[in-house]
Amino acid sequence: MCYAIPGKIVELDTRSATIEYYGEKKKAYTDLVDVKEGDYVYAQGGFVISKVPEEEALNILKDWQELFFQLQETDRKLSNNPKTIYQRANAVRQKYQGNSCCVHGILEFSNHCSQNCFYCGIRSDNRNISRYRMSVDEILSNVEYAVNKLGFKALVLQSGEDYWYDEEKLTTMIKQIRDNFPSLIFLSIGERDEKTYKRLFEVGARGALIRFETSNRELYSRFKPGSSYDKRIDLIRNLRKIGYLIITGFLVGLPGQKSKEILTDIQLTAELDAEMFSFGPFIPHPQTPLHNTPLPELDTMLNAIAKSRLMSPSAKILVTTALETLDKEKGAREGLMAGANSLMINITPIKYRRLYEIYPNRAGTEDDTQTRIDAVLTLLYSLGRAPTDLGI
Ligand code: SAH
Repeated sequence: MCYAIPGKIVELDTRSATIEYYGEKKKAYTDLVDVKEGDYVYAQGGFVISKVPEEEALNILKDWQELFFQLQETDRKLSNNPKTIYQRANAVRQKYQGNSCCVHGILEFSNHCSQNCFYCGIRSDNRNISRYRMSVDEILSNVEYAVNKLGFKALVLQSGEDYWYDEEKLTTMIKQIRDNFPSLIFLSIGERDEKTYKRLFEVGARGALIRFETSNRELYSRFKPGSSYDKRIDLIRNLRKIGYLIITGFLVGLPGQKSKEILTDIQLTAELDAEMFSFGPFIPHPQTPLHNTPLPELDTMLNAIAKSRLMSPSAKILVTTALETLDKEKGAREGLMAGANSLMINITPIKYRRLYEIYPNRAGTEDDTQTRIDAVLTLLYSLGRAPTDLGI
């Protein structure tokens, strides 16, 4: 199975390559892989991540060709004649981003956390959950499976803020992944110092998922004790300066959040130059101080997606697992039809996934990964979306 379509390098300059696939041209940086003109490659998030042997690439392109154009046609039809705000946002997505949909894998490798966020089920004060940590070897074997067997080209490595994984361990892990299982690696490990992030960039990490959680400073300091809003925002900006692709965003429905603040949150996400918007409903966890908070409406979430799309036509906007959890039946589909164009598939072994309980009853927790991939592909195809991500 393939979550990206290989392209051919038709032009090279010092830092980037022009890649062609089915007549479309896109640019991607070449700092991770040594390439030459004529090579077939996979690119993700604007980076060439690996070469593909010519024969294999041609076979994949042949297999995809018919489906590729059929999907584009379906997408065009479904984006036609927009009336509601959701449909308008969907039409803008179609115009600026086409039918490509990122499908990243996410591996939750530890639920130990030194932070005590009021909204989060794995906060350090929650003594009622079993904690786990995957060893570096265990992480590598899961990444191997995701890349070599399941075909993922982009992975998010997520954990609580767990300093057991020091710079040394993280560096080894990233280096091993880059050397053996070429993929675009996003880190989601919380607030580490910049030096650590720099080192991890040097060995091949290229993305960082770090939400600012809320642009309301007062709510931030109330619900994220011990963490500074300014420091977190500075970190996000500095990671962008290092060269990281940024996935960031916020929670919708924190107690005390005013509905107009969602717009400020969207603006801040755009201003932080997010490669991908990641925001989701706040889903209360029974063993946290915010356990009594009501859930936001699905429409509130769809509205936030649509507004993000109208504000940032070329952004990648994620349908988060939390949105899928809010409405297991329609959340993903309606999100994709309101302007979103990215999804994540959980590749964490189920025994650990159950314990990564940032909120209860997370969608997909009990699903075998292959089953979930099949369901996601069926959904994407029904909407005319291609699970690809090529170029800048
Ligand atoms: N430790 C990392 C990763 C955090 S977990 C970090 O600090 O960046 C990923 C995200 O889950 C958080 O950023 C938060 O926005 C979200 N999250 C936590 N608790 C949640 C809840 N109860 N409902 C919905 N999302 C939640």
